[in-house]
Amino acid sequence: MAVTKTQAAAGKSAKLTRPVANGKHAKVSSGAISVPYQKMFIGGRFVDSVSGKSFETLNPATGEVICQVAEGDKADIDLAVKAARKAFESGPWSKMHGPDRARLLNKLADAIEANREELAKLESLDNGKPYADSFNIDIPLTVKCFRYFAGWADKVMGKTIPIEGDFLCYTRHEPIGVVGQIIPWNFPILMLAWKWGPALACGNTVVLKPAEQTPITALRIAKLAHEVGFPDGVINVVTGYGPTAGAALSSHMDVDKIGFTGETTTGKLIMTAAAQSNLKRVSLELGGKSPNIVFADADIDAAIEGAYFGLFFNQGQCCVAGSRLYVEESIYDEFVKKMTAKAKSRKVGDPFDAAFEQGPQVSQEQMDKVLGYIESGKKEGAKMLTGGNRVGSDGYFVEPTIFVDVKEDMKIAKEEIFGPVMSIMKFKSMDEIIERANKTMFGLAAAVWTKDVKKALRMSNSLKAGTVWVNCYDVFDAAAPFGGFKMSGIGREMGEYALQQYTEVKTVIVAM
Ligand code: ADP
Repeated sequence: MAVTKTQAAAGKSAKLTRPVANGKHAKVSSGAISVPYQKMFIGGRFVDSVSGKSFETLNPATGEVICQVAEGDKADIDLAVKAARKAFESGPWSKMHGPDRARLLNKLADAIEANREELAKLESLDNGKPYADSFNIDIPLTVKCFRYFAGWADKVMGKTIPIEGDFLCYTRHEPIGVVGQIIPWNFPILMLAWKWGPALACGNTVVLKPAEQTPITALRIAKLAHEVGFPDGVINVVTGYGPTAGAALSSHMDVDKIGFTGETTTGKLIMTAAAQSNLKRVSLELGGKSPNIVFADADIDAAIEGAYFGLFFNQGQCCVAGSRLYVEESIYDEFVKKMTAKAKSRKVGDPFDAAFEQGPQVSQEQMDKVLGYIESGKKEGAKMLTGGNRVGSDGYFVEPTIFVDVKEDMKIAKEEIFGPVMSIMKFKSMDEIIERANKTMFGLAAAVWTKDVKKALRMSNSLKAGTVWVNCYDVFDAAAPFGGFKMSGIGREMGEYALQQYTEVKTVIVAM
């Protein structure tokens, strides 16, 4: 599981000789991916920040600088919002019909598909996720998301409603206007697609602020959008930090809606900013501490596979990570033994070498945070069966870690870790586990493993979570709505439900 310096360094200078097929390729070649200084994208042009300031984006596999990126702030957000407002009110976009928007969204999907290899490389370079994952998961899901919402662009419609009296009453589902969107670093391209797809399909214009850790691919996709013909100002990308650029966007008086994915604490700040400015509409996809529940009658090998993927995928950096893994008492020991063996054999290293399933955490800050949680688990008396350490000294790699003897009131059982740290806990009965699973401020996702359909249905009805997976984990589809109960968020992304987040309903009543 060790990462050699050469392997880690390869992330910085990785160039693949051939594309990945079916998640399998064996070889890494060298040759630098060189990324020039990145300007932000406002009003159809790549521009410097008003202040002239820039920031570094780092390669998490090495800690080295990939490139400088223009650092946007309030002044840049103002310019982007102005451009988006103009495009919305009077530009060609305001006169475009659904089928034209669909055509553009489909063209963008085609362009992303055509540039799959380059985008996957940039994503892995900036985020650290294995190239095979970027190529086989992130980019295809992104393409599907844009195509799915292209399909909706000419089907956004209201109703004709019979009301009392001699009137014609109908509703129009109109775009909200200028939409601010703030996204995290764990799935930079895919989160952009979840935000842009429905917003653009419904006819809004957007100002996106990508995460400061991973700004490169949003700018690349903005360029593709420009090339395929999105009119100037429809799409704007302002790169910069959360408390400056992000805060300016969420408190802007001329932004009509803010869509956010990130931490619950940040979501609260954004909602407060929205409330204290112009009461802009808010949708939030926030943190989670998802229970993954394995009954004794489950297909154990499938449950192990699913729970392993459900926690360790994407270096554990998933808001839906199944970080509270509950296993029924009678199979607990066998399950723990098999899972520990599996975690021990997980290979951590260079994201551009297919020999490794796990890359680095996204940043030093995240790595330190994860290692801090591991320390707290040990201090609070949980038993660590494997992992626990940083891997190597370059980059931000962390060993897959498993804790048992975890109590519900320990920090590792309550807080979102966002790293490769699994807690396996024991349960005895269905009533007990329903209560324990729901005893959390979060409610993003949950999973149940059982062959008994009655158990599966009772559990999925009882779990307070936006998504419940039965005998599977991490199944996402552009058509399936996603979002949180409780402090995991407000609103749903994807599927038809996402359209509600990006339209205003207007009632028209005509005297006959
Ligand atoms: P993390 O701590 O994992 O980076 P965040 O919720 O802080 O998660 O980040 C998600 C996104 O929110 C990023 O784009 C970040 O820049 C942005 N962000 C952070 N703080 C704020 C804020 N105060 N206002 C608006 N956006 C913010």
